[in-house]
Amino acid sequence: MRQVLLAPRLNLRSLILLLTVLSVTCLFVFALFFVNYTVKERLIDNSLALNAEYSSRIAKHTNYQFEEILKNLRFSANVLGKNFFNENLRSNEVLRLKSQSGNFNSVFLADGEGHIISFFPTTLKIDSKQIYKTYGITESIKRKQTYISSPYWSSTKRLIVIVSEPIFNAQGQYLGFIAGTIYLQSKNLVSEMLASKYGYKKNYTYVMDDQKRIIFHADARKIGQKVQVSDGLTSMLQQQDGAFRLMNSQGIDSLVGFSHIPSVNWIVVSQQPIDELFAQANIIIINVSIGITLFYFFIFFVVWRLSGLIALPLNHLAKMASMLSRPEVQEKINKIAPVYFEVDQFKNSLMLSSQNFNEKIDELNQSVNTDPLTGLYNRRGMKLFLEEFVHMRTEFAVLAVDIDFFKKVNDSYGHDKGDIVLQRLARLMKYHFRDNDICCRSGGEEFIILVAASDPVTVFQAAERLRKAVEITEMDNMGRVTISIGIAYWPHSSEDVEEVLKLADQKLYQAKREGRNRIC
Ligand code: GH3
Ligand code: MG
Ligand code: MG
Repeated sequence: MRQVLLAPRLNLRSLILLLTVLSVTCLFVFALFFVNYTVKERLIDNSLALNAEYSSRIAKHTNYQFEEILKNLRFSANVLGKNFFNENLRSNEVLRLKSQSGNFNSVFLADGEGHIISFFPTTLKIDSKQIYKTYGITESIKRKQTYISSPYWSSTKRLIVIVSEPIFNAQGQYLGFIAGTIYLQSKNLVSEMLASKYGYKKNYTYVMDDQKRIIFHADARKIGQKVQVSDGLTSMLQQQDGAFRLMNSQGIDSLVGFSHIPSVNWIVVSQQPIDELFAQANIIIINVSIGITLFYFFIFFVVWRLSGLIALPLNHLAKMASMLSRPEVQEKINKIAPVYFEVDQFKNSLMLSSQNFNEKIDELNQSVNTDPLTGLYNRRGMKLFLEEFVHMRTEFAVLAVDIDFFKKVNDSYGHDKGDIVLQRLARLMKYHFRDNDICCRSGGEEFIILVAASDPVTVFQAAERLRKAVEITEMDNMGRVTISIGIAYWPHSSEDVEEVLKLADQKLYQAKREGRNRIC
């Protein structure tokens, strides 16, 4: 099987760079994943804590307000219980409750049957002779104790919550109740507090009662409706306060903090969509990425420079190794600085090889290896060079040269004149090829030149120079001769040297067939 050895394209420098790019890229990707994960986890933890804290502060404050409200109502109920039928006292108490604290949108007094017998503001369209059976009034009369209603539609067509306190006389007989109302869709005690007291960005807060009905919401349309969220609702209803992550029915992922207002048994919920949080995280991550990328290029630049320092001496030495036959090589090897151990070792052994090579050449120059007529190497000498080239893995081309119609020269001018032509040709060869190209007479009027180069263009140009030189050279009054040349390459044509010689020969005969005085 013909085996073709090609020089590997990768060198030490590209390997170092490749390794660096690989490892730094891995690090980069890992760092990004890690930062992304950690930042988002921390943000979620922080936000859960903030939402819990926020709802708890609102709940505490609201609770304090309601305790005050209930205290005031209780006080009024007590005063009224002692003198329920004094109309002046009733109007005064209602007026006092409405105007003193400003906590209620309206205040009214009802008797045990459901007549509203006193109210403020007086502009309300209320008929004191009518029995009112709205939800809040019926429940207050039925329960006969402190009562905070769920949202319901009042007789004046408002969505309201009432806070009522029963009135008993000295004998413990139930007389009616006094109540304050909160208009859920107007400015009210809770909305004022949520809107002004705390301004925690990018979250929204709502308040619901223990029946899951919304008392307050930034979106007014939701007030009075039942809360739709089912996940986590149980924990909100059962626990005093807490925080959790919630995926709602529309697939919106959010963080929720909640806290109860014990005096009214309402729940403050602070909810924050996770998307907005992550938008902040993404900005952090993009900034980190830009920083890392800049650093990445810096590292790449440093490694690029360093890899040059590490790889170049070895690269030079490796190139020298394939040109040991050249005379200037020893000087070049000497110039390479032994920057580190491997370079020093490699350099020393190359120097040794080069010296050996020169000794070999001296040996080859001995007479047994040369042809007496032309002074070129004979077949034996050529064999030794071939072995050395292969041993050093020096790539080379084989030029097989043959004089065209040489028999005619012999026939016309005699054998001695023929010999002169051979000598002239040998001199032309030596003149047109470099010292480290090996010119041999392989037999009769056939020659072989070993050219220490692997680039076909260079080799062809050298052969062409010789062919032209021969073509124009006048041979001692014998006219001119021409030559034909066949070229093959080691190791490109074949790894087997014999095979390469044969190929060059075949090419030579192809040149002959195609009309001579040419190169194949
Ligand atoms: P072509 O190569 O173009 O096909 O024609 P050619 O006439 O050159 O043919 P070939 O190469 O076969 O000829 C070889 C001739 O070379 C035969 C022989 O007379 C001559 N020859 C071989 N050795 C010597 C030598 O040492 N001295 C001289 N003068 N002639 C030689
Ligand atoms: Mg010939
Ligand atoms: Mg011949």
